[in-house]
Amino acid sequence: MGPTSSSAMTAGLRRFKEYPHRTIAIVYDFDGTLSPQSMQDYTVFPELGITPSEFWREVKAVTTSNQATEVLTYMRLMAERIIQGDLKIDRERLKSLGAKVPYFPGVETWFDRVDNFVKDETAGYVKVRHYIVSSGLREILEGVSIASKFHAIFASQYHFDCFGRPTFVDRVITDVSKTQYLFRINKGVEDLSKQVNDHMPESDRPIPFSNMIYIGDGDTDVPSMAVTRKNGGHAFAVYSPGESSAKCETLFKAGRVDAFFEANYSKNTRLEIFFKGALKKMFGDIRYRAMMYTFEEEVVGGKALEA
Ligand SMILES: [Mg+2]
Repeated sequence: MGPTSSSAMTAGLRRFKEYPHRTIAIVYDFDGTLSPQSMQDYTVFPELGITPSEFWREVKAVTTSNQATEVLTYMRLMAERIIQGDLKIDRERLKSLGAKVPYFPGVETWFDRVDNFVKDETAGYVKVRHYIVSSGLREILEGVSIASKFHAIFASQYHFDCFGRPTFVDRVITDVSKTQYLFRINKGVEDLSKQVNDHMPESDRPIPFSNMIYIGDGDTDVPSMAVTRKNGGHAFAVYSPGESSAKCETLFKAGRVDAFFEANYSKNTRLEIFFKGALKKMFGDIRYRAMMYTFEEEVVGGKALEA
């Protein structure tokens, strides 16, 4: 490559522009991962005068006694409170309440830092996307101040009736069903009206799992962490600064995560250093796969066999 190349790596990479699998996906759980508490605690509950600890205790008790799905239980109990209340809490209101959601240190500048790191290290050859996969509410997440940083937000959704009341659910995301969204990202089937289970050869999947990092706090993340790591990706766990890391330690010892950290996304934290380590490993892997891809194109698809 010519003298315009800024580094040897760039020069090498420019030869392989056509290699398709050079997008990295960073997939975040939300509650407890990017934000300390459940998103409802900051948004809907203050509006309705609900004490979060009491509400979540009730959710646990009802889930147990009804042998129910916990996410459905919280959505039902919350919808009932909204409908019984005097305030109009419709889709628009939920979205505007999203602005109240706070974050762990460094989260607000994290996405631009990661984007710039990937761009600078690979001269723009590798792309990075951020995704949320959450059991929380999409209506709230669409209104959080960092919403524009995400390529897509997958979360549970209410069904609203003609009066704007949440009367049923349109989508429920549980710990197990979270993995469906990893496969959607993997296969590039992000339109939720499309089926994700059709067979697709690995070579047609735009974002291989080896280009994926999953980060969560553990509550609903175990299957996603397992799927990501088992398929060659990376998973990290976080715990609230100053609080117990016991849950993360258990995840680590069970082989669910590469490592775990305090949820501090600021510059030069251990979390950032590990992320950069994983990303650099991916840059190297992508570059090598691109070389193999070009070689195969030359031998199998190209001139070598034409004669
Ligand atoms: Mg969580």
